[in-house]
Amino acid sequence: MKLARKKVLVVGLARSGVAAARLLVKHGASVIANDARAGDRLADSVAELRAMGAELSLGGHPPDLFAGVDLIVLSPGVPADLPALDRARAAGVEMISEVELASRFLRGRIIGITGSNGKTTTTTLTGELMRALGCDVLVGGNIGTPLTSLAEQATDGTWTVAEFSSFQLETIQSLRVNVAVVTNITPDHLDRHHTFDNYVRAKHRIFLNQSGDDWAILNGQDQAIAEMSRAPGVASKQVWFSSRGPATVAGANADLYARDGHVYTTLPGGAETHVIALDEIPLRGMHNAENVMAAVGATLCATGAPASSIPVLTEAIRLFKGVEHRMELVTAIGGVEFFNDSKATNVDSTLKALESFEENLIVILGGKDKDSDYRVLAPVIGERVKLVVLIGAAAEKIAGQLEGVAPMIRAESMEAAVSRAFDAASSGDKVLLAPACASFDMFDNYEHRGRVFKEAVRKLAGSNSVPASARGEFSGRKGELAPAESGATEFSADNVSRGHARLPD
Ligand code: ADP
Repeated sequence: MKLARKKVLVVGLARSGVAAARLLVKHGASVIANDARAGDRLADSVAELRAMGAELSLGGHPPDLFAGVDLIVLSPGVPADLPALDRARAAGVEMISEVELASRFLRGRIIGITGSNGKTTTTTLTGELMRALGCDVLVGGNIGTPLTSLAEQATDGTWTVAEFSSFQLETIQSLRVNVAVVTNITPDHLDRHHTFDNYVRAKHRIFLNQSGDDWAILNGQDQAIAEMSRAPGVASKQVWFSSRGPATVAGANADLYARDGHVYTTLPGGAETHVIALDEIPLRGMHNAENVMAAVGATLCATGAPASSIPVLTEAIRLFKGVEHRMELVTAIGGVEFFNDSKATNVDSTLKALESFEENLIVILGGKDKDSDYRVLAPVIGERVKLVVLIGAAAEKIAGQLEGVAPMIRAESMEAAVSRAFDAASSGDKVLLAPACASFDMFDNYEHRGRVFKEAVRKLAGSNSVPASARGEFSGRKGELAPAESGATEFSADNVSRGHARLPD
């Protein structure tokens, strides 16, 4: 790609935009950096962009600017339907995404991981497994280091393990992923993609440019993936994983599967090899067993390693610490365990988080709604949750959709939510932050939300060691709060201002 003396507009100045600008400048482009936000909200990025000699255009998207450049590079957060982009299209300006730019410079081979949930966990674990087999590995993309930064480090022998969001895949053109992993597809980001079909179409682009030498590692229990695998344009060899034994909804036999408490694989070569016992996987929940199978499948296909190397992978899985904000045990206070799953930003991930526990759960839900249907959570909440603590802008909607399913209260802040949850807890209960929503109504991002949760829990730990039930303030038994018995719903501003979880007397 020839960039020397080209005038390139980079839109969106978070981490990926800044990394893209750096790569462009390095290759001789003259960069204009644009963001709708004003400079005071972009302080770090602005300093770095200035230092590299980029021109800045902040506080809006001037259409004339978009029409007057040679190339536009879009960060993943930029909406595809931005009016200024229409102007650029009309003027015939080439537009590519940050990952597409990266792919034109990235040497070596790529394991690309996408899906609605489990991308980061699977990407991180795949990086660990590849390293355990001695490969030269870089990990990044939608997590951590942007692909444009990795492009500066990769050599011909490098395997880049990259997480791809649907937003990033929407705009790729020449990117070729040697091993594609799709963890699952459930409705998410419908506020941006508008329909489920559009969203599936974006995910399908992970197979674009794959050949018969490449691999697709697919969830064999996912109907949308089964259909996608049959759609035209999937040229790669398919490998299936399944958490429910070897049979898949796609009709193929699974190549990695969980059966009778263990994970097995028939890769490579067809004979069944034991991978790991489910209870040896350090991460909670069957969804994490799926992530393990996806990562093992990707690693074996990428490297062509023999079955005799599987014990090395088993050991690396045992040592895997997980990723912050994903089912992270914060601490226990008086026998009540607090779990931070702030990254549960959609309904399906919250469902999986709830399913990872047997019962006695108090769950903190809410945040910025993404046109989600929270009724999907009703059966598992009805069965396992003794109290729902609602936060954020979606609280009213969730309360409406889950009315009568479980007792609900509203909290105005994360600290209040943690304290109300603890007030309602008995020893042996779990308090789970798994909001099913985006965080932007109250926090900078899900990491910020997770940190605030953990701080609130630690503060509480500093002042309490015994749950309310043991202090005789609140029994925490299921029936005590049940709206069906009381004839009233817990969800009311009155309860909030009273500052505890009990029904009005
Ligand atoms: P992503 O990068 O796709 O958001 P993460 O690995 O960060 O995925 O996990 C996000 C959330 O999704 C976690 O908090 C967890 O509750 C849930 N999750 C993780 N893996 C899976 C999976 N395979 N299927 C469904 N939910 C999952």
